[in-house]
Amino acid sequence: MKDNWNTRTKLVHAGSRRSQYNEVSEAIFLTQGFVYDSAEAAEARFLEAGPDEFIYARYGNPTIKMFEDRIAALEGAEDAFATASGMAAVSGALMSMLRAGDHVVSAQALFGSCLYVLEEVLTRFGVEVTFVDGTDVEAWRAAVRDNTKLVFFETMANPTLEVVDVAAVAEIAHAKGAKVVADNVFATPVFSKALELGADVVVYSATKHIDGQGRTLGGVILGTTEYIRKTVEPYMKHTGGSMSPFTAWVMLKGMETMDLRVRAQAGTALALAEELQGHGKLDRVIYPGHASHPQHALVKRDMGAGGTVISLDIKGGQAAAFRFLNALDIVLISNNLGDAKSIATHPATTTHQRLSDEQKDLLGITPGLVRLSVGIEDTGDLIADVMQALEAV
Ligand SMILES: *Cc1c(COP(=O)(O)O)cnc(C)c1O
Repeated sequence: MKDNWNTRTKLVHAGSRRSQYNEVSEAIFLTQGFVYDSAEAAEARFLEAGPDEFIYARYGNPTIKMFEDRIAALEGAEDAFATASGMAAVSGALMSMLRAGDHVVSAQALFGSCLYVLEEVLTRFGVEVTFVDGTDVEAWRAAVRDNTKLVFFETMANPTLEVVDVAAVAEIAHAKGAKVVADNVFATPVFSKALELGADVVVYSATKHIDGQGRTLGGVILGTTEYIRKTVEPYMKHTGGSMSPFTAWVMLKGMETMDLRVRAQAGTALALAEELQGHGKLDRVIYPGHASHPQHALVKRDMGAGGTVISLDIKGGQAAAFRFLNALDIVLISNNLGDAKSIATHPATTTHQRLSDEQKDLLGITPGLVRLSVGIEDTGDLIADVMQALEAV
C-alpha cells in the first residue's frame, strides 16, 4: 500500500495478497490449517510466526489478514483483529483488558447487548462499572477515578443518536491513565476519525456498513500493534471469537463499495430529515447531520456528515408507530442497520425490549420512536414511501 492513497483507493486495494495465480478478486482461503515443510518448520512457526505465516484459522488466515489490513489502513490504525461478530469485538476488547478490581466508566445509552456485557458480565468478574450521560463532559470528569482502567461509549448512540465528544472524553480518561474504547458503528468507518480524535481502541460491528448487504455477522477491534498482538490476540484466539475466512471475504467485497454506499445513504438521510422537519405527525426528527440536532456542530467538526440513521418520534405512541411501520412499502421492518435496503425498527418493543420503562425513559426510547436505517434506494422513492406511511398514521 502506498502511504498517500486516499480512502476509496485503500478500500479497493489495501491489504490485498495474491496467490501464485495472480487472481484479481481476493481469494477465499477456506482452510482451518496450514502444512509445514518439516517438524522443525512447525516448531519454528509456533515459536514465532512471520507476518505471512499462519498456524490455525482461529489465530489467523490469509483472507482474514487481508480484511484486517484493509480496515486498519482505512482507520489509520497500526493493527486490527477480526472477530466473529460485533459483540465478539466489544466483549473481546473489554474482557482482554480488564481484571477484577478495575473500574470502568461507560456511557449509559448503548446497544442492548453492549449494555448486557457492561452491566451483567463485567460486574460478575469483579469489575465495577459507572454509567454516565455520554453527552455530558462534566459527568465523565466526575466519574473517572485512579483505578479507572478504561472508558467505553458509542460515538453515536443507538437509537437516540446522541453524540459523544471523543476528544474531550479522551483527555479526561488519559489524565487518569485510562484507555478509551469507542464503539463506532453509527459514526460509520467512512465518516469517523475516532482514533485521530483520541480513542485508543475502536470496535466495529462489520455486520452493519462494512458488509452493508445483510449477509454475514462480523466485527473488528483496532488499535496499536502492541495492544492487538499482546492483549487482544491471545484472548481472542484462545477463547474462540475469531472471524471465519468466508466472512472475511464477504467483508472485503463489502469494503470495496462502502464509501460509495455510505455517502449515498447519508445524502438520502439528510434529504429525508429536511423533508420531515415540522411534519404534523411527528414530535421529533433526530438526525445528527441536520442543523436541528443539538450536537450538530460537534458532528460537523468530528465527522463531517450525520451517518445513515434517522430516528422519528411519531405522535400517538406505540399504536401510531406500528401504523407507520405497517404502512411502509419499500422500507422493511427489521432490526439491522447500515444495509443497502432501508430498514425501520421500533426499539421499545424489539432491540430495547429488555429495558425497564424507567431505563427507556432515561435513554429517550419513547413508545413512538422509530429508527430508520436509510438504504441506497432512490431518494425520491424513499421520501415518498415515508410520507405515505406517515399519512396512514
Ligand atoms: C450491531 C451493533 C453491535 C453488535 O454487532 P453484531 O455484529 O450484531 O454482534 C454492537 N454495537 C453497536 C452500536 C451495534 O449497532
